[in-house]
Amino acid sequence: MTTGLYIHVPFCVRKCLYCDFTSYPYHPPDARTYLQALRQEMRLYGKILSSEEREVSSLFIGGGTPTCLPADGLAAMIEDAGSVFKLLPGCEITVEANPGTIGREGLAQLSAAGVNRLSIGVQSFQDGLLKVLGRIHDARAAVEAVRAARQAGFVNVNIDLIFGIPGQSAGDWLETLGRAAELSPEHISLYGLQLEEGTPLERAVTLGKLVACPEELELSMYRTAIDFLTGHSYEHYEISNFARPGRQSVHNLKYWLNRPYLGLGAGAHSCFRGERFANETSLKLYFDKVFRGEYPVKDREVLSEKVAMSEFMFLGLRLIRGVDLDMFQRRFGKRAEVVYSSQINRLLEQGLIEARDGYLRLSEKGLPLANRVFLEFV
Ligand code: SF4
Repeated sequence: MTTGLYIHVPFCVRKCLYCDFTSYPYHPPDARTYLQALRQEMRLYGKILSSEEREVSSLFIGGGTPTCLPADGLAAMIEDAGSVFKLLPGCEITVEANPGTIGREGLAQLSAAGVNRLSIGVQSFQDGLLKVLGRIHDARAAVEAVRAARQAGFVNVNIDLIFGIPGQSAGDWLETLGRAAELSPEHISLYGLQLEEGTPLERAVTLGKLVACPEELELSMYRTAIDFLTGHSYEHYEISNFARPGRQSVHNLKYWLNRPYLGLGAGAHSCFRGERFANETSLKLYFDKVFRGEYPVKDREVLSEKVAMSEFMFLGLRLIRGVDLDMFQRRFGKRAEVVYSSQINRLLEQGLIEARDGYLRLSEKGLPLANRVFLEFV
């Protein structure tokens, strides 16, 4: 089975007000050291991986803001990856890009380096809402980023959008969806805003400076998005993801199908050789370990069969086509319908899931209640 490779770039120009991801202010000297550390981490894996494990069918460079780094730094990173891993023909190579950090020249360099998919963090087409989120760009920069990507030759572009922002109306959301559709990206990812504890946005809501989006409105925004995007020829293939035919994210499918992936860089997560592990999030600890020749892993969990089966179920249920029940049997040697008989029967009775053509999937009623369904399998 081929490997999905993820490389985390933990630098951003400025922290967004809702963000609790691992990211640090961009400082060129840290970034240069970081590229050396990544090279070293790749070499460490190069020593232990089998030739099959080194075969990579998707490389995702995410963040943070990878496009904080100069394009030649990203190109060098891809070259380093190619010298340790075997990037298979047709390998999907995605770079996450933030409007305001990419220009035509840099995009052309990325394309020349083999990047064939760009994921642009647009989030909204309303400047007022982008300010609420603390994004560094406005709507015009987002449109320009997509156009620049096209001019640089990218034919596979994703844009990320956020709904449920304090102050966002149903009309705002519909306008954002409309402007996204006008740009005609091949893939659209939606995120329902989470007010993460300790973020400035969460504090502003707690202090009453902003009003959180009511749950019913957020739910109706989600439903609007499904109707709107499927009506504009996007296939709804995962709870939060929509794609033109043949443009589903190869890399993200690996997560949902429980396939092996290896994460490199500070704060990166992996699921590999039956273990889940996460790297050190602190840059200092990450550098210290890697330059000492150690794997920079902080937490490691060997997946028991029980946990692996549970993950297979709730990750697979994220896909609109659902969990492949025969694949479950091939993987674990038992039927999911037997292992989870009481949970499945209960959810079927409640109308939250349905069984069809060998797949178990969320029903229309279950889709917005997915987290409740997943809990049944944990
Ligand atoms: S660009 Fe992304 S990773 Fe960086 S601060 Fe904003 S949300 Fe967080």
